[in-house]
Amino acid sequence: MTTSTTFLGLGAMGSALAAATLDAGDRVTVWNRSPERARDLGARGARVAGTVAEAVADDGVIVACLFDHRSVHDVLDPVITRLSGRTVVNLTTSTPDEARELATWADKHGVTYLDGAIMAVPEMIGGPASALFYSGSESAFTDHRDLLDRWGTSTWFGPDAGLASLYDLAMLTGMYTMFAGFLHGAAMVGTAGVPAAEFAARQAPFLAAMTEQLAELAATVDAREYTGPDQQSLRFTDTALSALRRASTDQGVADDLLVPVHDLVRRQIAAGFGAHGTARMFEGLRSSR
Ligand code: NDP
Repeated sequence: MTTSTTFLGLGAMGSALAAATLDAGDRVTVWNRSPERARDLGARGARVAGTVAEAVADDGVIVACLFDHRSVHDVLDPVITRLSGRTVVNLTTSTPDEARELATWADKHGVTYLDGAIMAVPEMIGGPASALFYSGSESAFTDHRDLLDRWGTSTWFGPDAGLASLYDLAMLTGMYTMFAGFLHGAAMVGTAGVPAAEFAARQAPFLAAMTEQLAELAATVDAREYTGPDQQSLRFTDTALSALRRASTDQGVADDLLVPVHDLVRRQIAAGFGAHGTARMFEGLRSSR
């Protein structure tokens, strides 16, 4: 049971995490580079530390929710020698290799390191739709599960500290390309005077229905078997993408977003796989690492 938790970084997300922890009745210490951001949490009962050294003087878990990997080092490097034997949960968005670097660095200094990725926006923290992914120290995950569960559903992916981040950034790839695709579509119908809001009302249920195909796509990719009878062929998709690009440029909408997708399809066709399923695009994306 965690009795005192230190939060380093009180941006939108760090403040939400600290507030949810306070709401649960835990003792909380907070620090932020710009002190004014700590005021509200202080008024709600958090102990406000004037320096990082003061903030980590408590005995509990240290939660970092800072801007980026660099800022985690900026904040923790000066106090690292004091952190031996302590647990750091880093919820700052990092790349997998950045998370691994922090895990190695923490280990070198006798610090237990758990890397986390937040699949939520600040308003969702503590609510039913909030999910957090973790990797790194298993004992940190299990020993502090009560604390972690204050913020959302917690899942530990394994001892490789980079895994949570890998999942996070892979999922965000889907999100960003979906948002960009929606904006492209809104620009297309916008040329006919259709408001984006009207388009969104039709696009959202369509995209939701399309996500039902993900499991089937995944089974195809996992089996690496692209010749099943129900698969939409690369040639079919080539024709469809050509039409999308023509329609876009005819309307004066740049087809930039579609070009890399079309290139992936065309490269597989050029390699002799035109009759194979469109999921074969995965072969053009697979890592050679
Ligand atoms: P904000 O921009 O609101 O806050 C950034 C925080 O980092 C502030 O506390 C800022 O301090 C601090 N900071 C930046 N650089 C330094 C530095 N060199 N030294 C010390 N402190 C520094 O970001 P969020 O709170 O929204 O995000 C924090 C992390 O959470 C990010 O990694 C983000 O990717 C992740 N996240 C955010 C989500 C969101 O929806 N907001 C969703 C999922 C993850 P100061 O106030 O002094 O500028």
